[in-house]
Amino acid sequence: MKKTVFFLIGITLIFFNTHLAYSINPSNAERFIIQINGKIITKHSADTNALIQKGLYEQNKSIIRNHEYPSINIPVLMYHNIDSVSKSQYWVSLKNFKAQMKYLKSYGFNTINLIDIINYIKTGKLLPKNPIVLTFDDGYENFYTMAYPVLKNLAFKATEFLITDYIGNSEDDRKLNTWDMNPNERSFLHKHLIWPEILKMAKNNISFEAHSKTHPRLTTLSLTELDKQISGSKNIIIAKLGKCDFFNYPYGNLNTTVVDKVKEKGFLGAVDVNHGGIFNTSKSDVYKIERQFIHSKMKIDTFAKTINPSIKFPDLDVLSVIFYDANGKVQDEFKKGKSLIIKVTIKNNGAATTAIATLKLIANDSNILANYDTQLNDQPEDKLLIIEKGEEKTIQFTWRVPKNTTMKQWYYNIAFHGKYYCLWYGETGWVKGFTIIK
Ligand SMILES: [Zn+2]
Repeated sequence: MKKTVFFLIGITLIFFNTHLAYSINPSNAERFIIQINGKIITKHSADTNALIQKGLYEQNKSIIRNHEYPSINIPVLMYHNIDSVSKSQYWVSLKNFKAQMKYLKSYGFNTINLIDIINYIKTGKLLPKNPIVLTFDDGYENFYTMAYPVLKNLAFKATEFLITDYIGNSEDDRKLNTWDMNPNERSFLHKHLIWPEILKMAKNNISFEAHSKTHPRLTTLSLTELDKQISGSKNIIIAKLGKCDFFNYPYGNLNTTVVDKVKEKGFLGAVDVNHGGIFNTSKSDVYKIERQFIHSKMKIDTFAKTINPSIKFPDLDVLSVIFYDANGKVQDEFKKGKSLIIKVTIKNNGAATTAIATLKLIANDSNILANYDTQLNDQPEDKLLIIEKGEEKTIQFTWRVPKNTTMKQWYYNIAFHGKYYCLWYGETGWVKGFTIIK
């Protein structure tokens, strides 16, 4: 029996190297106790991973963790409302949300579920590169109408935390957030999700977990009430969806009693709010998973910094911006409906970097933004550049002046989004304009 098992390990290790998202350095000599069919064998982590890969772990369910797997930082983002307009810091506009999701997609982040974190910590089950968790609090209807289509389009995973007494069974039974009428906070009366929407989303990468029955401050409750809030919300989600493994403390309000109750009720972990750190698989407490609060005013470069605080922004200078007509003649004036070509020359004075350039055109009343954005709108002319240190590069954008515009003067901004950074250039020094003629 033993011989067969080691033979399998030998085979899988060769095959395995190309599939490892997180390669494990053999010199670390991480050791595990592996139990196979009741027999305990101590082996290196690579062998354990090979067993997991080969399905032996699933068959035996008996690998015992006795050390920490390689430490990974996993940003866990916290959203509340996504809507066409922002009403408070808790309402991220759909436009900003789309830009943030596109940022994650463009730069190789992979959305995972909270259960994936637990599986990694307990069994070393592999995570994809650049793992990130998206969470949404309070179960608002706008998660279904606004956020979900964006997530679905990108095949992103996400978790929504439900206040279960506020989830109706049908449209006629839809509840409003009457629990949330604190005049000092996000006191906008609006709608919660209903179960038919939840059941539909649950089939498409969205996990639903517990956020109490009525969103009270849990530390103020009696033990009986605390029990009701925690197990009540878990039980209804299990009844509707079959499982509920994570809890979210309302207002991030917790103490030892609350955390112990959450553990006692069989939750595998629980999310907290942001205390200034990013969840780390070796150091962080899975019953106090820190989350990054994504607020409404957050710009895309701050978003990048929130996910990775050690991100380094490069030093790019815009040397020139020149307009051409469709025939390649330099122009500063264009007629309505005409195509224009904009060539931008950039110099990299910092570290070598990969950049995606984005162009935004702004009308002279500054309220109208032309929806031209090479990155965010998936235009075929997305400009992916590799700019070495000291190198100059020219990027070219094309744009058609709207036929029905009443604007006479347009201005533009250019942004550079990189693999490890995102930058906006908007200084007046090079925010130039072009004129529309009759
Ligand atoms: Zn909440």
